[in-house]
Amino acid sequence: MTASKRTAEATIESLHRIFTIPEAPSSTLGLVEKEISENLAGFLGNHIVATEQALTDIEKDFAESSIPEQPQFVSDHMHHLLEKLVSRSVHTSSPSFIGHMTSALPYFILPLSKLMVGLNQNLVKIETSKAFTPLERQVIGMMHRLVYQKQDDFYGSWMHSANHSLGAFCSGGTVANLTALWVARNNLLKPDGDFKGVARSGLYAALKHYQYDGIAILVSARGHYSLKKSADVLGLGQDSVIAIPTDEHNKIDCQLLAQKCEELRQRNIKVLSIVGVAGTTETGNIDPLDKMAEIAQQYRAHFHVDAAWGGATLLSNTHRSLLDGIERADSVTIDAHKQMYVPMGAGLVVFKNPASVAAIEHHAEYILRKGSKDLGSHTLEGSRPGMAMLVYASLHIISRPGYEMLIDRGIKNANYFADTIERHDEFELVTRPELCLLTYRFVPKAVQVFLNTASPEESLEANLLLDKLTKYIQKTQREDGKSFVSRTKIEVQKYHGRKTLVFRVVLANPLTTKKILHDILNEQIAIAQTSQNFLPQLLAMAK
Ligand SMILES: *Cc1c(COP(=O)(O)O)cnc(C)c1O
Repeated sequence: MTASKRTAEATIESLHRIFTIPEAPSSTLGLVEKEISENLAGFLGNHIVATEQALTDIEKDFAESSIPEQPQFVSDHMHHLLEKLVSRSVHTSSPSFIGHMTSALPYFILPLSKLMVGLNQNLVKIETSKAFTPLERQVIGMMHRLVYQKQDDFYGSWMHSANHSLGAFCSGGTVANLTALWVARNNLLKPDGDFKGVARSGLYAALKHYQYDGIAILVSARGHYSLKKSADVLGLGQDSVIAIPTDEHNKIDCQLLAQKCEELRQRNIKVLSIVGVAGTTETGNIDPLDKMAEIAQQYRAHFHVDAAWGGATLLSNTHRSLLDGIERADSVTIDAHKQMYVPMGAGLVVFKNPASVAAIEHHAEYILRKGSKDLGSHTLEGSRPGMAMLVYASLHIISRPGYEMLIDRGIKNANYFADTIERHDEFELVTRPELCLLTYRFVPKAVQVFLNTASPEESLEANLLLDKLTKYIQKTQREDGKSFVSRTKIEVQKYHGRKTLVFRVVLANPLTTKKILHDILNEQIAIAQTSQNFLPQLLAMAK
C-alpha cells in the first residue's frame, strides 16, 4: 500500500470515528443514552422518518391542552417520549439524509452538551457565567481571525476589552444578520448635534434629521429570507430589501448592483447595507465579494457578508480563496450549527471594527453596568446558554485541518455526484456545486432530446409536467423514508429564466458514500416509473 493511500484510509477512518457513537460501559448509561448507542445505525432504524404516519395522525397524540394534574415517574415518561416522539422524529444524522443543512454531529457533542446543560451558565452576564464569558470572547476572536486574519496584537488589545466587541454570539444566522443590520442602522443614523440617534428617537426622526427619503438594503435574488425579517423588525420594512438579479451562476450581477445604487442615490434613498451571500441557501454559490466591497465603499454603505452556511469554508486552505474579499466586509455572519457540526443554537456575527458594536450598547442597573464585561450589553438576546463551549471544544478536538478534511470531502463528494448526474441519461444537472450543494432533476433521455429542439410553448408544457414529476418523486422518496433530498424552485437560464422545480442536495455528512449516492438516483428512477400520469404524458409528448 502506498503512503498516500494509507493516509487517505486513515483519514476516512478518523472521520468515521468522530461521527459514530462509541460503545460506553453499560453501567453508566441512562435509558436515553442506551437507546442511542444500541441503535447506532440510527435509533430510528434505517429510516429517515421512522414512521410513515401522517403528521395529522401524530397530532392526535399531542392534542391535550390541559397541564397534567398527576405527576409521572421519569422512567415512565422516558418510555412515553421514546414511543411518541423519538421514534417519529427525523434521522438528520443518516448518511442518506442529504437534503438539508442540518447535519450529523460528532459523538463527543452529546456528553459535552450534557455538561453544558448541567452547568446552566447564563452568558448574559459574568455573575452567572464567569469563565464562560472569556471563553465566548475567545471563540468570537478565533472566528474573527478566521475572517479578518489580523495579528496577535490586535486580538491582544480587543478580544477581552470591556468597551469593545469583535462580534456577538447568538442563536443562529437569522439573529446574526439582524444584529449586523441593527449595528449598521444605528451607526448610519447615529446621534448628531441635538438629534439623539435612531436608537433613542426612532426611524421617523432619524430620516427627518438626515434628510433621507428612504433606506435600502441590497442583496442578490438568492438572499436569505432572514434579511427581510430583519428589515421588518428594524422598522425599515420588508420592501426596503431590494433583490438584485443574479447571473447564470447564481451570483449577484455587480453591474446591476452598481446601477441600482446610483438610481437610489438620485432618488435620495440611502443604501444602508450591501449584503453579499457566501453560500446561497438554495444553490451554494458565492457572490463576487471583492467587487461588492468596492461598490459598498463607493456608496459608503455597510458591507455585510451572509456566510451563515459557507463561512466554514474559510477553515479549508484548499477552498478558502472562494471567499476572497470577505476580509473587506464590515460584518460577517457564520452559523456554527451548519458546516461546523455543532448542534443548533450556535450562530455568530463578527465585526471588522471592534468599536462598531457600541452602537447597540444597552445598560441596566442590576446587570450590564457601564464598563462591565457582560456580554449581554452587546447582544440582542438576553439569557443565553453556553453554546460557545461546544464551538470551542469542536475547534480544539477537530482542529482546523480536521475541518479542512470535512469541507474538502463535502465538495469532492458534491463534484462526484454532479459528474455522475451529468453523465447519467435520465438526469439533468441544474446547478454545478461550488461548495457541497447542487441541484438537479429527473428528465428521461427522450425528454431531454425533445427539450433541446422544443418551441418555447412545448418547452413550457414539458417543464410544467417535469415540475409535477419532480415533486412526486421528492415526496414519495421522503415518505418511503430510506433517503431524503429536498426540493426548491429556482430560475433556470436554459429555460428562459423560468422558475423550475429541482432536487436540492447538501453533501455535508462525511459518512455519505458513493454507493449511497448511486442508490438515491436508482431509487428516484424507480419512483418515477410509478408515476401514473406525469411520466407517460411526458414520454408521449417527446415522441
Ligand atoms: C441558514 C441561513 C440563514 C439563517 O440561519 P438560521 O441559523 O437558520 O437562523 C441565513 N442565511 C443563510 C445564507 C443561511 O444559509
